[in-house]
Amino acid sequence: MTAQLIDGVALSKAIRGDIAARAAALAAAGRRPGLAVILVGDDPASAVYVRNKVKACGDCGFHSVLERYDATFDEAALLARIAALNADPAIHGILVQMPVPRHIDPHRVIEAIATAKDVDGFSVHSAGALMTGLPGLRPATPYGCMKLIESTGMALKGRHAVVIGRSNTVGKPMALLLLQAHATVTVCHSGTPDLGLHTRGADVVVVAVGRRNTLTADMVKPGAVIIDVGMNRNDEGKLCGDVDFAAVRAALGPAGFITPVPGGVGPMTITMLLANTLQAAEA
Ligand code: NAP
Repeated sequence: MTAQLIDGVALSKAIRGDIAARAAALAAAGRRPGLAVILVGDDPASAVYVRNKVKACGDCGFHSVLERYDATFDEAALLARIAALNADPAIHGILVQMPVPRHIDPHRVIEAIATAKDVDGFSVHSAGALMTGLPGLRPATPYGCMKLIESTGMALKGRHAVVIGRSNTVGKPMALLLLQAHATVTVCHSGTPDLGLHTRGADVVVVAVGRRNTLTADMVKPGAVIIDVGMNRNDEGKLCGDVDFAAVRAALGPAGFITPVPGGVGPMTITMLLANTLQAAEA
């Protein structure tokens, strides 16, 4: 028997149902949650992401605005738009879709967003709050991964969790969230000589690398929980993750859990962005 699937679509739907109900209650009290999404440039993948985020807002009864600017839009003008949205009482969350064109400094852009509206959780202030255990808005992808792990029923206290990848947006905040949940955490990266040495004893493995087959069947422990954040294309051009899915699922056995790609982490990322916007509106 193979490992059980963690269904990110179903979990997402359940969480979005709760978000929509809370948004309706807030709206009835005159404070409809509002998200502003800014896209600079014409990257086709980014255009799809922002469209999905705006659509999800509509589905949950949120107010949303999408501001699109061409690739020559300058940094000063972008910062002025962010300042205007910071002051707009109908907007509770602001997101600038990354990457921005090269002439714009992404750090200056992220830091320009008011802390209370930083629904991506990428600012130094939000990262510091996570680091020190203070309340704040958490980056959506690792936040969603925590919900997926929680859905398996595994208590993280005392467990060994391995995170592969150390980006500021996924790997590092993921490690901090697991630490906050009292797991013993190992972080691996491109300089780790033998990933399997760490993952073979792990109760939870979160893979966020962006390379197919980073985690293979010989690298996992039966009964472990595997969260696959990666988004890649296989030889047939189909979306796939960082995990050698079928073989790892078999190696985990019936006590294990694994997220599919697509249908695992992806839908949860937008859901947790909505959760952050709601949290900002409720504050
Ligand atoms: P990133 O910024 O490129 O970071 C990748 C990380 O993987 C880096 O820390 C890198 O190590 C590490 N790495 C690279 N090669 C490795 C190897 N051979 N062994 C071990 N570690 C290795 O990427 P990211 O933004 O974190 O995203 C990671 C993946 O998740 C991508 O496929 C991305 O598309 C996907 N993603 C999905 C969602 C979603 O909603 N589903 C959201 C965000 C990201 P160094 O630090 O040493 O370079």
